[in-house]
Amino acid sequence: MTAVRNVLISGASIAGPALAHWLGHHGIRAVLVEKAPARRTGGYAIDLRGKAIDVAERMGVLEGVRAAATGIEHVSTVDARGRIRARFGTGLVAPEDRSLEILRGDLVGLLHDAAPGAEFRYGDTITELRQRDDGVVASFQGAQAEGFDLVVGADGLHSNTRALAFGPEPPFRRFLGAHVSIATVGDHLGLGDEVRLFNRPGRLAALYRTHRAEGAKALLLHRRPTESDIDRRPPAEQRRHLRDVFDGMGWETDRILSDMEGSPDFYFDSVTQIDMDAWHRGRVVLLGDAGYCPSPMSGQGTSLALVGAYVLADELARHDAVEPALAAYERRMRPFVAANQAIAAPGLAFLAPRTAFGIAARDGMLKAGPLLAFLGRFDTKLAKASEAIALDAR
Ligand SMILES: Cc1cc2nc3c(=O)[nH]c(=O)nc-3n(C[C@H](O)[C@H](O)[C@H](O)COP(=O)(O)OP(=O)(O)OC[C@H]3O[C@@H](n4cnc5c(N)ncnc54)[C@H](O)[C@@H]3O)c2cc1C
Repeated sequence: MTAVRNVLISGASIAGPALAHWLGHHGIRAVLVEKAPARRTGGYAIDLRGKAIDVAERMGVLEGVRAAATGIEHVSTVDARGRIRARFGTGLVAPEDRSLEILRGDLVGLLHDAAPGAEFRYGDTITELRQRDDGVVASFQGAQAEGFDLVVGADGLHSNTRALAFGPEPPFRRFLGAHVSIATVGDHLGLGDEVRLFNRPGRLAALYRTHRAEGAKALLLHRRPTESDIDRRPPAEQRRHLRDVFDGMGWETDRILSDMEGSPDFYFDSVTQIDMDAWHRGRVVLLGDAGYCPSPMSGQGTSLALVGAYVLADELARHDAVEPALAAYERRMRPFVAANQAIAAPGLAFLAPRTAFGIAARDGMLKAGPLLAFLGRFDTKLAKASEAIALDAR
């Protein structure tokens, strides 16, 4: 049925291997080119929610995800001396059977293993894409040019495929007014499997620990009304910037800043969404963060990537021409993406309230959370957005 037999995927993190699994399922060959020298391990905690749980189940990886779950069940907000202000269960945000948290590296491993027929090429990248009526010729940094029926950009927020096929990133960026940083640091508090959040107006310092990884992960989030180029600067400058913003903030912040100096997995970026009128051009199509990054504030990027992979492969298998398949993928995914991008702003407001009053109000609401949840009054926007697509819809 399908016109597509041979697909090149740029990026082998979440979206890429998930798509490779489904292409293999439909009898379509997948080649993945990944710029990292090897399969990525470690990383921060990410979530699978709602329909992404169903996709994981259909892929046969759900049991593996459950077995590798972080085990984090509680989040506490603390004051400058580390005393708990509010404590709530993660089940308050989304129903426990529809939400799982796992380290990114653990999920990447499971997804790679679920695509045994795919060819993974590490340490390489696409340098040019030449579209023809019947396919795309891709040139690579480290290999001969090769022709494919379709090229899929699953190469993340700063997608190389998007730049090659659609042009530079700026017109597609929607800056949400914050910067985020994450790194592995020492667990000086002796945390259990838990998250602690400490706020000052417009700033968040968070620490979490899971038995799945050494040390603790520290997250620093701060609001910034206008975009700057700090996210494209060298890590040393980004660390200096964080010192300017967070020095002396209180709680564990100074220790976090000092540990971040030597952290090998230091990550810094702006909180940005990708907003595009079209996710495909000719025989190049975008998937996951590359096409519709909802930002870490939504907590739904992983779920969009997994569901997107399922829907894209499904439409390719159902159509005997490429254009209608890609158009159908977009039609099915658009409302789901919109619903999940819409929860990022409330997510940022929750994590980094702008004022002291906002912080106190949030903590008050969290204290009342179990009662509100019991009364069915707790805000369930996230849970609703995670379910807002019918996987078998036509
Ligand atoms: C700090 C932080 C916290 C987050 N928290 C959550 C959360 O709680 N819940 C959640 O669901 N999501 C969260 N996310 C988002 C989540 O990580 C992404 O949405 C998800 O990983 C998207 O998957 P992807 O495969 O589309 O892209 P990515 O995971 O970004 O993968 C892109 C891949 O492409 C590769 N690549 C890049 N450029 C090239 C190139 N030129 N050539 C070849 N390969 C290339 C990269 O090496 C990478 O392997 C968070 C993200 C961050 C940064």
